[in-house]
Amino acid sequence: MPRGKPSKGKCSYCGSEIAKSGATKRLSACPKRQAIIEEAERRKAKSETLHHLRVQDAWHSEFWLDLEARGSGTLKDLDHYLRRIWLECCGHMSRFSVGGWRGHEIPKKRRISEVFERGVELTHIYDFGTSSETLIKAVGEREGPPTTTRPIALMARNLMPEPNCIDCEQPAVWLCMECLTEEEQWGVLCSEHAQAHPHDNYGEPIRLVNSPRLGMCGYEGPGEPPY
Ligand SMILES: [Zn+2]
Ligand SMILES: [Zn+2]
Ligand SMILES: [Zn+2]
Ligand SMILES: [Zn+2]
Repeated sequence: MPRGKPSKGKCSYCGSEIAKSGATKRLSACPKRQAIIEEAERRKAKSETLHHLRVQDAWHSEFWLDLEARGSGTLKDLDHYLRRIWLECCGHMSRFSVGGWRGHEIPKKRRISEVFERGVELTHIYDFGTSSETLIKAVGEREGPPTTTRPIALMARNLMPEPNCIDCEQPAVWLCMECLTEEEQWGVLCSEHAQAHPHDNYGEPIRLVNSPRLGMCGYEGPGEPPY
């Protein structure tokens, strides 16, 4: 998707808007998140290391996620999460590595705590044909009981980019695959101009969704978190 406004995101706990660069600070200061952490401590669930992971698309960094992953979870859990929130189109293969594309592969059965020491960055590749490349960096960790029963908690996510229609200045909600494939242009359109748009060789325009994979292979969304 074309670059839109600066990379704003939203805190999953209180819903407030946060800048990508200030997300870590804002999350640790968030009173709603603090309340959820204290509640988990009162339940006396088992403590473990919880890893703060900053996830972003390697080429379109306006797509980003801040996750809290349990140390006892595995890379398979993370792969599953990335597929569901951003990537899955037709069940392609994926892999994690250190050192980029040609780097050393890390098996998916490895535990989060074995892999993500602070500062470590992994590359996740989904689909070795039309590939999506995602960077995952360990930016912090804390000890405590997890706040959910799931292996991963979504703490913050970028807001949906809002590109302008190529025919007017209105916010676009549709993408023409013919513009993209034949003319290598991001044919993003408002509803009015989507109707009048002359291209139909690749079917109707598809709805813009909050995922860096939109327009690649058969991906059409929905771009929603699995939990
Ligand atoms: Zn918050
Ligand atoms: Zn596909
Ligand atoms: Zn328009
Ligand atoms: Zn078009």
